[in-house]
Amino acid sequence: MDTRSWIDQVIKQDQIDKYLINGKDFINENEIHNKLNMNKDCSKEKVRAILDKSLAVERLSFDETATLLNVTDEDMWEEMYEVAAEVKRRVYDNRIVFFAPLYCGNLCVNSCRYCGFRKENAGEERKVLTAEEIRRETDYILSQGHKRVIVVYGEHPKTDAKYIAESMKTVYDVKKKSRSGKNSYIRRINVNAAPMSIEDLKMLKEVGIGTYQVFQETYHKDTYKSAHPKGLKANYRWRLYSLHRAMDAGIDDVAIGALFGLYDWRFEVMGLLYHADDLEKQFGIGPHTISFPRLTPASGSELSIASKYLVNNKDFKKLVTVLRLAVPYTGLIITARENPEVRDEVVKVGCTQLDASTKIGIGAYDKAAHNEKEDKQQFTIGDNRTLDQVVNKLAEMGKITSFCTAGYRCGRTGDKIMNLLETGTEGKFCKLNAVLTFREYLDDYATEETKKIGEELIKKEFEEINNMEFYKNNKLLSVINDYYKRISEGERDLYV
Ligand code: SF4
Repeated sequence: MDTRSWIDQVIKQDQIDKYLINGKDFINENEIHNKLNMNKDCSKEKVRAILDKSLAVERLSFDETATLLNVTDEDMWEEMYEVAAEVKRRVYDNRIVFFAPLYCGNLCVNSCRYCGFRKENAGEERKVLTAEEIRRETDYILSQGHKRVIVVYGEHPKTDAKYIAESMKTVYDVKKKSRSGKNSYIRRINVNAAPMSIEDLKMLKEVGIGTYQVFQETYHKDTYKSAHPKGLKANYRWRLYSLHRAMDAGIDDVAIGALFGLYDWRFEVMGLLYHADDLEKQFGIGPHTISFPRLTPASGSELSIASKYLVNNKDFKKLVTVLRLAVPYTGLIITARENPEVRDEVVKVGCTQLDASTKIGIGAYDKAAHNEKEDKQQFTIGDNRTLDQVVNKLAEMGKITSFCTAGYRCGRTGDKIMNLLETGTEGKFCKLNAVLTFREYLDDYATEETKKIGEELIKKEFEEINNMEFYKNNKLLSVINDYYKRISEGERDLYV
């Protein structure tokens, strides 16, 4: 099929219309602006009452979130940072989950004004990875110690759903020996790809998709129109309902996000909340994670430098804080677009997932393995630290790295994981799996220095585990001790 004919058959209007309510989508801009304008009373009493609700791990209402977004008193913000950190601790404890992005193709039929991959950008060298090249990329990612990847694609017939499914199978098939001589492999593949039909999404479900991630970029309709002037991505509602279609395809683990810097950050936070709310209303399951990339300079993109809504570091920390407080049991992802100082700072107020050793050029991991120069990228990377360096830094901060992928493989996803998170049960399993996977990492990939500090952390974790009633009551202490011993002796991939 030629590109034009392919484009013509992608969007299925009936797979948009079925989710509309009275012909309307869930983003009512007047309502969002009204919420932001009507909730300007940010007295300490009022804000603290809202923070108490967050501490009780309850999702905030739109009005409550708007109130937090309107806080101007910097002392109050300091309190909010502390509460956000405490909320994170209550739901996710001290764990951070890691992943690596794997860019498989940069051919794209779209014209997003902030992106170097847009089709008009003649300066971009275009490439779609072959199966062999994907194997080499995966090999390098495994050599760093990763167990979880997010595969990323432009929107193009050469990287359609069939290609995505094949590339996922290729990634899952790669095995690589670690330092301990055991086979290492990717245990979970998340997908960041263009909106698809329910039929195409079912194909990804069959090959074992983890999370399906589609960012709306901006919820503000005029801004969306001007940032996405043509191509398939110009259709706001086709994108807005991508994850509703995923739910209908049986993928109950989905991720939303906005590209901060295109429009007012307070509006976008509200947009994300309305998105989460509609998923919950229509399917009973909110998003698993929220991402908040910031516009950073992309080669060949004027908008990425000139936008009047660029978000500074201070406001960035504030928006992450409000998200943590508004949706306590939703994961928050901070990527290597941000520099190490910013990442270390916002991790404190509640992020749960990070990438590291990140390369975003097409075929860039293999190039790194051979010390070759990288091609141009979709955006600029701010944090070039290796996985070991980031793990080490987090361990210094008392945070344990988790490579756990058990929830997905035990069927703890969607509404099941939401219930477990709300009751605090999922966190208990995660704590054990974090220790087990961290032990694997320390033995298989860590430097001596990281191993030393990591082992101290594990010791502390065990002290806590041994004293927690939950593990005693559920007879999990003997299980964890047995699994830990077996992993220390070289067994791999044991989880609860
Ligand atoms: S942001 Fe995505 S859809 Fe838009 S041009 Fe870049 S790769 Fe294509």
